[in-house]
Amino acid sequence: MDKMTVRDVDVNGKRVFLRVDYNVQFDEDGQILDDFRLRESLPTIRHLVEGGAKVIICAHRGRPGGKVVEELRNAPVAAHLSSLIEREVKSIRECVGPAAEAAVAEMQPGDLLLLENVRFYPGEEANDPQFAKQLASLGDVFVSDAFGTAHRAHASVVGVGYYLPAIAGLLMERELQYVGRVATDGEQPMAVILGGAKVADKLGILKNLVDRTSLICVGGGIANTFLRAQGIDVGASLVETDRIDDAHEIMRLAASRDNLRLLMPTDVVISDAAGERINTVSVNRIPPGFRILDLGRQTIEDIREALAPMKTVVWNGPVGFFEREPFDRGSIAIAKVLADLVGATTVVGGGETAAAVAKAGVADRISHVSTGGGASLEMLQGVALPGVEILRDRAA
Ligand code: ADP
Ligand code: MG
Repeated sequence: MDKMTVRDVDVNGKRVFLRVDYNVQFDEDGQILDDFRLRESLPTIRHLVEGGAKVIICAHRGRPGGKVVEELRNAPVAAHLSSLIEREVKSIRECVGPAAEAAVAEMQPGDLLLLENVRFYPGEEANDPQFAKQLASLGDVFVSDAFGTAHRAHASVVGVGYYLPAIAGLLMERELQYVGRVATDGEQPMAVILGGAKVADKLGILKNLVDRTSLICVGGGIANTFLRAQGIDVGASLVETDRIDDAHEIMRLAASRDNLRLLMPTDVVISDAAGERINTVSVNRIPPGFRILDLGRQTIEDIREALAPMKTVVWNGPVGFFEREPFDRGSIAIAKVLADLVGATTVVGGGETAAAVAKAGVADRISHVSTGGGASLEMLQGVALPGVEILRDRAA
């Protein structure tokens, strides 16, 4: 899966059509809530600017459904990008047509132009070849850094690649180096920590990685279903009753293999419905009406010890209801455990998991925090992403 990157081509004087994932949110005062994805795209943009390219940036926001939605325009994104990169970023209210063509024609090497929200056009999500061709006519080369959108076969993610040579940006390269690597052949021994809310999402990851995994740690909402499968009374906790059989299957599989350990929570943080009574208890002593909302200290300690010999650790899904304090403690502790691991490659995938790592303040000590939620999930499940497939392979 070695893809050609911006390092392999000369972009001097060329028009580069750069697809990024800037699907970010703003608060009521117009302040950007999390600019992680913008910051992660800067190395590619700098590389292109220094190489003398005219950089035409294409991005989407939200789900406008093929029509103009005023609140989802890209202009505020251009302003924020400009402040990050300390260069002018011009923005226009179109993606194709005479106005877009004129704006591109005016560009000088090193200039940056951000097109309008590409999902304002119905041709984007439909991957309409005509629309893709119009987009492609703006550039000479197609560079993709939109890992977070790579699981979508949309015109600006895939279609443009039918008309222009398609190569990876530096962020895309990093995502493939880390997420792509652990999804196929991470260094052994490897551990997977799974949390989050939905068992179904995570089953695919386990199915793909189980043959190369020595340790599976289960936390978060999904652990409740596993505990129930063990016959434990989890009180009023969220349980997916239709997934208990799947949990059984994974427990059987782990039990049948000497080299695979399934680490389940032994103590948990629980709360009553009103959120007034919060306690840490053994999983065998959950009073009726209480809900499991985080891992307990002993379980975190067990995970820490079990991870020590690992060479690769993949984490997807918060191990507790981390949006609400104090139930963020377990996820913050896990983030720190990963940050402190010596000699291991640590990869975090998933939007909420990345947020938990950021909250813990250790993102710079994790080998790679993916910018893709859905995309990293699919890649970890072993699914080929159309936005990656379209990129040119590097000649062997
Ligand atoms: P990611 O976005 O990182 O892939 P998921 O979407 O799978 O993660 O899951 C994140 C959600 O799971 C969070 O909103 C979190 O609050 C929720 N969650 C985790 N543990 C629990 C729990 N014990 N009870 C309820 N919700 C939980
Ligand atoms: Mg999520």
